[in-house]
Amino acid sequence: MAKDKVTELFGSMVFNEDVMKQRLSATCYKAWKKCVAEGTPLSLETAHEMAAEMKNWAMDHGATHYTHWFQPMTGVTAEKHDSFITPENPSQILMSFSGKELVRGEPDASSFPSGGLRATFEARGYTAWDPTSFAFIKDGSLCIPTIFCSYSGQALDKKTPLLRSMEELSRQAVRVLKLFGDNDVKKVISQVGPEQEYFLIDRDVFNRREDLVLTGRTLFGAKPPKGQELEDHYFGTIKPRVAAYMKELDEELWKLGILAKTKHNEVAPAQHELAPIYNDANTACDHNQLTMEIMKKVAGRHNMVCLLHEKPFAGVNGSGKHDNWSLSTDTGHNLFKPGSTPSQNARFLLFLAAFIKGVDEYQDLLRCSVANPGNDHRLGAQEAPPAIISIFLGDELTAIVDAIIHGTKYVDQRMKSISIGVDALPPIPQDTTDRNRTSPLAFTGNKFEFRMLGSSQSIAGPNVALNTIMAEELSQFADELEGAADFNTALHDLVQRAFIEHQRIIFNGNGYEDAWVTEARKRGLSNLACTADALQTYIQPKHIELFSKHRVFTEEELRARNEIHLENYCQVVGIEARTMIDMVKRSIFPAVCAFSGATASGVAAKKAVLADLDCADEEELLRRLSRLSAEMMRQCRALEEAMAAPKGKDAYEAAHYYRCTVFDRMGKLRAAVDELETITAREAWPYPGYTELLFSVT
Ligand code: ADP
Ligand code: MG
Repeated sequence: MAKDKVTELFGSMVFNEDVMKQRLSATCYKAWKKCVAEGTPLSLETAHEMAAEMKNWAMDHGATHYTHWFQPMTGVTAEKHDSFITPENPSQILMSFSGKELVRGEPDASSFPSGGLRATFEARGYTAWDPTSFAFIKDGSLCIPTIFCSYSGQALDKKTPLLRSMEELSRQAVRVLKLFGDNDVKKVISQVGPEQEYFLIDRDVFNRREDLVLTGRTLFGAKPPKGQELEDHYFGTIKPRVAAYMKELDEELWKLGILAKTKHNEVAPAQHELAPIYNDANTACDHNQLTMEIMKKVAGRHNMVCLLHEKPFAGVNGSGKHDNWSLSTDTGHNLFKPGSTPSQNARFLLFLAAFIKGVDEYQDLLRCSVANPGNDHRLGAQEAPPAIISIFLGDELTAIVDAIIHGTKYVDQRMKSISIGVDALPPIPQDTTDRNRTSPLAFTGNKFEFRMLGSSQSIAGPNVALNTIMAEELSQFADELEGAADFNTALHDLVQRAFIEHQRIIFNGNGYEDAWVTEARKRGLSNLACTADALQTYIQPKHIELFSKHRVFTEEELRARNEIHLENYCQVVGIEARTMIDMVKRSIFPAVCAFSGATASGVAAKKAVLADLDCADEEELLRRLSRLSAEMMRQCRALEEAMAAPKGKDAYEAAHYYRCTVFDRMGKLRAAVDELETITAREAWPYPGYTELLFSVT
């Protein structure tokens, strides 16, 4: 595509700042700018003008409907479309869209999970326009990004807490920056670039797998002769069908102003990655939700299916999302970028110290923020970060931290020791050579990369956690430094103390080795391998205090979320278990019976002709089929019994039960079935196998 074509395409479906400048009156445009910069509410009059212009613009681009677009606790986005038509008289309509309709909507949203929040108040929630996120057109509808709340103001969605956490982080960071004399900074914005992994498989093959259709992952499947051993897929040449898909995906994303930048093949066969250029956390979150949706939609047009499940296939890598996170001032400075003057470096070290302290103190919260049923199969498994939180700093930065801890000389070419606020730090090179791919939280030069997120997960939760933790530490630092007699001495002591007390969280070694698990235990780091336990940390008193202090979540909201996640976990595992039972009883068992029967008839037929014919191999096969089939049915009954039994008195106990009892039995059933697959004729097996699933897109 020609360069000018791309620039023309980019953002063409977004009611962005340029469009506003062109279309709105100067007063209206200024009011919107002020609203975004300072949080001042828009008058109804401004909202009316805004709505009318949005509608005109949308109609110029073929839209006939509008929808409030929001992010309920289901993890996907929701929309309810209304057309612009309004009756003018019995035979005529007008196309209209009012300020009131723009600002507030009332979807009949009583079926969205609320964790009991709405039961005591109103059945319905309402949506309210988020003016910091641009409206856009998708499928002929003007989509207005909104938050979703109950009538008494409790958050029922993922966007509300994200916005709250961004605001609070900004407030605390600005306090700290003032101490360094940065008085120009009005706002600090968390910046996020999420790298998204996904699988692409052929739709016809997909449709023949009941498990993929119902659960998004293969519940059975013997290992193919070839998996990812050769690593020939990673960064390999992109296959023509996939290349055509990626091209169209890029174009669709660009139209929506999404900065899709990098695309490549990942390690597992059929696995790929897309990374956008980073953006403010709110926009990044909206865009990532849209990206996931459009990935699936475009795949359909190419007769493929895009799988976003964290572990669609056993034995090859699962998919995650890397949440690259940093803080930027409204004056354009990245606060995690080591600077070149003593003051800039002191500021960098303070933000680094706050991050290290926060991650150490709130390990469980970060772990909780990435707990979902799909990630159960990744965290602690071979190819993903373990369920232990640690920070990778790289050799140079670790040496600097050590020098500060020990008050010793930092050994570089200039042999200098470091006194924070007085000395300039030696330049810290961006760590590109020994990038540690096994660390859950890696410093990568000017940002942290949080690598534990599941591929299907909304990035809102993990960023709410990062933002709020950082806000808390910065508020503590500001409290201490604001009262200090000598700023530089106090700063030095504070940073040194934070490094000393929290250095256990820094780990530059291989996070996938068993030795790390032992070492981490010695250091007293937490290791919540079980999703039910991880989710329960939502409601630890320490976390309730953190979130309510910073007005990100009330206790009630946290309890509701904990409940929703636990229930979701039970439902997902329950659906998987029922799907397995159905597949075994109605397809796999009958297929194995038929194959055994055919084998037995073959033996009988052979012997009828020549009684002394050697049929030892067939007979051995029959014995194995019969033994494994009996084992499969025994495990299937055990799973059915587990599903029929009472699950516990509350959501936490139930989630534990699903994780331990149900999950365990699913594993045993799968083992028997997978072994059966390896001895059953390909044509006799009722489902396409891994070879077909992973290698059919060419
Ligand atoms: P990789 O981790 O695969 O080597 P990069 O480090 O180039 O890739 O970038 C990964 C993601 O990090 C991209 O989405 C990029 O836009 C984002 N990113 C780069 N700089 C920042 C930053 N300062 N803050 C947040 N995200 C960033
Ligand atoms: Mg990365």
